Amino acid sequence: MRSKRNKFWSHDNRFRLMLTLGLAVLLPAAALIYINFEHLESIKRDKKVEALIHRDFQYVLAVSEKKINQKAYAMAEEVREVFPSPDSDNEADKLKQLDLVLAKNPWLAHVFIFDHDKGMLFRSQPQQLNDAYFCKEHDIMAESYKGWFSMEGKMLVEGLHKKTRPISWYGGPTKRADGEAFMTTAFFVLPRVSKDRVVLAGASFDPDYIKKTFFPGMLDELITKKLTEDKDAAANSGMFDSGPAPLAMTVYPADPDGGHENKPLATTAGWGKGEPEVSRNLDDVFRGLALGIKFQGTSAEAIGRRWVMQSFLILGVLSLFMIGGLLLTYRSVSKEMALAHLKADFVSNVSHELRTPLALIRLYAETLELGRITTEEKKEEYYRIIRKESERLTALINNILDFSRIEAGRKEYDFRETDIADLVRNTLDAYRYQIEQQGFAFEQSIDPSIPRVRVDREAIARALVNLVNNALKYSANEKFLGVKLYRANDRLKLEVVDRGIGITRREQSKIFEKFYRTGDPLVHNTKGSGLGLSLVRHITQAHGGEVQVESTPGKGSKFTLSLPLASATQ
Ligand code: ADP
Repeated sequence: MRSKRNKFWSHDNRFRLMLTLGLAVLLPAAALIYINFEHLESIKRDKKVEALIHRDFQYVLAVSEKKINQKAYAMAEEVREVFPSPDSDNEADKLKQLDLVLAKNPWLAHVFIFDHDKGMLFRSQPQQLNDAYFCKEHDIMAESYKGWFSMEGKMLVEGLHKKTRPISWYGGPTKRADGEAFMTTAFFVLPRVSKDRVVLAGASFDPDYIKKTFFPGMLDELITKKLTEDKDAAANSGMFDSGPAPLAMTVYPADPDGGHENKPLATTAGWGKGEPEVSRNLDDVFRGLALGIKFQGTSAEAIGRRWVMQSFLILGVLSLFMIGGLLLTYRSVSKEMALAHLKADFVSNVSHELRTPLALIRLYAETLELGRITTEEKKEEYYRIIRKESERLTALINNILDFSRIEAGRKEYDFRETDIADLVRNTLDAYRYQIEQQGFAFEQSIDPSIPRVRVDREAIARALVNLVNNALKYSANEKFLGVKLYRANDRLKLEVVDRGIGITRREQSKIFEKFYRTGDPLVHNTKGSGLGLSLVRHITQAHGGEVQVESTPGKGSKFTLSLPLASATQ
């Protein structure tokens, strides 16, 4: 009944533990892992990292265009301020002043003033006029702008006056001796000129300047700015990233079909080859050009893939840790529970074991006291039983005391030079009668040539007694006990052999644990505390040795203490 309740108690507790672990830890942990996993999957599936990078790039390009335009506007504005007034009647003066503007601003290709009443003044950089293309450009522009302004000048002037900055742009491809080029021209109304007058002026940015100075400088500045921003963002967010991947930018003639085949006008260092990750067609100042951005040596797709891989890896490792932690918790809690269970068993076992010898001692002492026993033989037998039972009590109590000292870390050993053969022989002699009484065939083999060793006599005797007692307790049909003391190399071996019930392989490693008793029915019906073997192990280890068991269920067991001859002499 008791055992049934115990079993039930243990099952109940185990179930509760599983439930707690399951509900409080496993379920949330599994859910968390699953949700994260799904999240990562969706990031991977929808290429979210890539999309995020693209969005960032688009933003960078928008900001870049704004900066580029700002710079161009500022430059045009400056030139506009130094333009000659259209009111002077001296045309030669005005031309001179226009030439001065060109000379002071070598980044200009052409400048012009159109006055509806006075006609067109169109000047170009004089030293470039020997380039045939440039010269042609000069002629065509002077002619066509004049025609254009004559027809639409009024409308253009009105339009310009409505703008916050009275500047408009006309950009497009042109030609130079070294190939395709891009030029943009700013038109404006002049300051301090009445709004009613149709006077238009303008300045064209030199294609060579745009290509070799303006864009390279601008792109470098923009990339540097973006990189410092990214670094700051990374530092602020506390990420120990090695920094964002280096970027590269390009400007190229926008293909009306949206392709990128055209030769770039300008690139930053490290552009290499290939398509921009994200591009943006420029408007206003540089309509007809496009701005492109990409990572140096990598792509948003590769970065996204790597990020997802890393995240999966981290998630995997964390999940493994979590599972490992759970298993460890489960193991240690079940161990604690098993120990609690064993302890409960131990208390009842010990009480039983104490009660039997006490009852016997009392019974025989009372019988003797009554004086009813007349024969000396009988009396002696009763005395012997009383002595034997009190010895059993003492042994049990000694075991418990030793055990509690060991548990408290207070067990001390008293090593003395000892003739161990003698010690074994004497210990066995005290048990010989009992052994034979119980019908055991007893074989003892002691090598007398073993040198003296330093051991704690009492402890070694107790270990031996525990092993012998176990052999006696756990033998059923074939009653045999063998004790052998011999020397093997530099080791001392003490063997206790029986042909009893044996121990299964699985339980062989556990029997040395405190309170552990095997599940064999004979063990269940035999008194015991489960302390004996744990003491034997402790004693042997304290002597620098070890204890081993070889056993076959139903055939018997062999316990071997192996002590070093040398270190036992310490
Ligand atoms: P106790 O004998 O008090 O139960 P021990 O620590 O001495 O405690 O032994 C632990 C368990 O090991 C025993 O309960 C028994 O199941 C098993 N055992 C020990 N010695 C033998 C043996 N010689 N043969 C079979 N089983 C044994």
